[in-house]
Amino acid sequence: MAAQQDYITLDRTGDKMPLAGFGCWKIAPSDCEATIYNAIKTGYRLIDSAGIYGNELEVGAGIKKAISEGIVKRQDLFIVTKIWNTYHAKENVRPAFDKQLEELGLDYVDLYLIHFPVPCEFTPIAEAYPPPGWIKPGKDKFAYERSPIHELWGEFEKIADTGLARNIGISNFNVQTILDLLTYCRIKPSVLQVELHPYLQQNRLVDWVQKQGIQIMAYSSFGPISYLEMTGTAKDAKPLMDHDVIKSIAEKHNKTAGQVLLRWSVQRNVVVIPKSLNQGRMEANLGIFGWSLDDTDLKAIAGLDAGLRFNDTMEPAYGIDLPLFD
Ligand code: NAD
Repeated sequence: MAAQQDYITLDRTGDKMPLAGFGCWKIAPSDCEATIYNAIKTGYRLIDSAGIYGNELEVGAGIKKAISEGIVKRQDLFIVTKIWNTYHAKENVRPAFDKQLEELGLDYVDLYLIHFPVPCEFTPIAEAYPPPGWIKPGKDKFAYERSPIHELWGEFEKIADTGLARNIGISNFNVQTILDLLTYCRIKPSVLQVELHPYLQQNRLVDWVQKQGIQIMAYSSFGPISYLEMTGTAKDAKPLMDHDVIKSIAEKHNKTAGQVLLRWSVQRNVVVIPKSLNQGRMEANLGIFGWSLDDTDLKAIAGLDAGLRFNDTMEPAYGIDLPLFD
């Protein structure tokens, strides 16, 4: 029996986007085909991938296997991927998108996102794919490229016009960058994907963005756990799953701490995309529908907001040492 799932309807296309999906960051290529196949079998219908995760080929293989075994139909899946920062220049966008479709082995994606509003120096696909990280191969320092977002977005709109990406959106944008985009866009972003958890609740951003008709997808719903090896801030923060407030709410509802953290988002119409290779956790992370956090729980969780951002490219420990423009 398919797991219970709730959906959000996207403005422009009327497409239904599942409120609970599965994230693909840090899944080793060797584990990835089986993991995505299991995730779909377990009931996940939204898969969040990205060029930079280095596993689109295997994500695509997992999807293909699930479809070929009749577990799901393509039209019942919602596949997301993201353009990496090295392909922001207008002439590089469509080739990058085509390469991603080819890697995934799909005819279309449901949502194509700008991964970060940070243009990095270009490396041709023929020289390196999956894309290099923040620093160009062979160089020792991060360098920008002068590629403005409005040109990148224009190319995204053209891809949306073809239907090869049914919806287009953004990630890691703040209110000001979205406001700027809304001044010139022909097609409004359908989705904003951002870091969101009880330590970084971003209530004004969530409220403002949702009122614009842009849906929000939360990443890192469990807080610091994903960033322990990347940022000092994450090491200093108490793990959210061990926090007394979260643990006591979980006990009260006979749920796990992870389910409380995920429920907190979906209850405000924010999509979640947890990842686990462990079958029990994979199932548990979908068990977030058909029950609710009450006002007392929400008030207690509101008290945890600390403005703690873990995926912060400006943090020196992130290792990219953002230079000044010359
Ligand atoms: P996550 O949800 O994958 O959780 C982090 C860790 O928690 C994982 O190591 C996992 O093993 C563990 N975990 C998962 N379920 C658990 C459970 N029930 N109990 C205990 N531990 C559990 O967090 P994430 O990877 O930071 O974010 C999820 C997804 O969001 C990613 O896979 C990726 O798709 C996306 N993401 C996007 C961006 C972006 O810049 N747009 C950044 C980070 C992540």
